[in-house]
Amino acid sequence: MSTKQSRYRTGNQTLVREINLSAIMNRLHEHSPISRSALAEMTGLNKTTVSSLVQELIDYQFVREIGFDTAGTGRPARLLQLNPEAGFIISAEIIDVGYISVICANFANKIIWRSEEAFHLNSDHNKIIHRLFTLLHQASDAARNLYGPVLGIAVGVPGLVDQKTDTLLFAPNLNWKNVPIGMLLREKFDCPVFVDNEANLAALGEYYFGAAKDCNYVVYVSSSVGIGGGIIHGGQLLTGAAGFAGELGHMTMNSQGELCSCGNRGCWETLVSQKAIFSRLQQAIDQGQSTILANPGNGSSNQLTISAIADAARSNDTLVLKVLEETACYLGMGIASLVNVLNPELVVLGGIHCLLGEFLLPSVNRELNQRALRWNARANRVVLAQQGSDACVMGGLAKVYQAILAEPSTVTN
Ligand SMILES: [Zn+2]
Repeated sequence: MSTKQSRYRTGNQTLVREINLSAIMNRLHEHSPISRSALAEMTGLNKTTVSSLVQELIDYQFVREIGFDTAGTGRPARLLQLNPEAGFIISAEIIDVGYISVICANFANKIIWRSEEAFHLNSDHNKIIHRLFTLLHQASDAARNLYGPVLGIAVGVPGLVDQKTDTLLFAPNLNWKNVPIGMLLREKFDCPVFVDNEANLAALGEYYFGAAKDCNYVVYVSSSVGIGGGIIHGGQLLTGAAGFAGELGHMTMNSQGELCSCGNRGCWETLVSQKAIFSRLQQAIDQGQSTILANPGNGSSNQLTISAIADAARSNDTLVLKVLEETACYLGMGIASLVNVLNPELVVLGGIHCLLGEFLLPSVNRELNQRALRWNARANRVVLAQQGSDACVMGGLAKVYQAILAEPSTVTN
């Protein structure tokens, strides 16, 4: 199966139209201005199908005609582009290192406004939600006059989300429990609202706009203070029965291992997260092992950061390279298990693993080759994320897009 065909799979009946609309929208996003026949060629769909899908998008004012392509020899073809004034989308992330990030994009996917704001991790959650809402209002005020109506708001959160009520059930690193974010958003904003786990949205962000654009079966590993993940299955985010699928960080790797933020012992997170890397390094430094990261004189480390660790690795710091090698082994073991269970085409490493990718990938691939069933290992690739710290908010845009494409009539007048 060619890449083009696999990306634009036909799927089962209920998804075909949405997937085909999505294929058209994505090509319009990447290649505007573009003709109907070029869209047909790129998507592998026949011209009649493309014309009918494009007409649907024009009727909803999501796509517009903008002149003719006069380059060819035949009759000049009408060129199409996404209509930037069809509306705007706001996407936000509450990050568990104490940040709120908000972007606002027009319908042509151009980011027209963005803001970031720090908060104290032990602040009351009501105060942080209030700040989030203030930023969302600012985004809306900035876009409304130029880009038409707000089409949807997506918010990514670092925890488990009840998909039926859009309630954040538990965010371990923020220590939030049962926060009804969806309900609070709906009280303040008169548009479709989506709340999801940040790693799920980041997986969508990489699938729509980043490293996983050409794959329909993807495992995205999100790493920060903890480990999360998102699974794309047949072009859709795998939710599981209650919406909790993708909690990769809590696979048990060692029943006697370290205590995890979830209350269990020996989760994958305790072996490969930022916290695990810092703690391995700190332990070695406390035992007197030498590294350029340690303060000369008292043996203790400076404040450890991922960028300082990457710099030390680039300077061939023996201890740092050893700690990263150990981390990569555990990372590769977990990925091999995921590959055997899920049979993805691609594994994407996001977050801090992406920043340390050049040092982790060789050993991750070695472990994967040794431990995954050899047919799986051969078919699989591990790559680094492309959206960086924007993956989640870009995924929020994608989430709203998906909803629009599923039922365009519900978001237009
Ligand atoms: Zn755990």
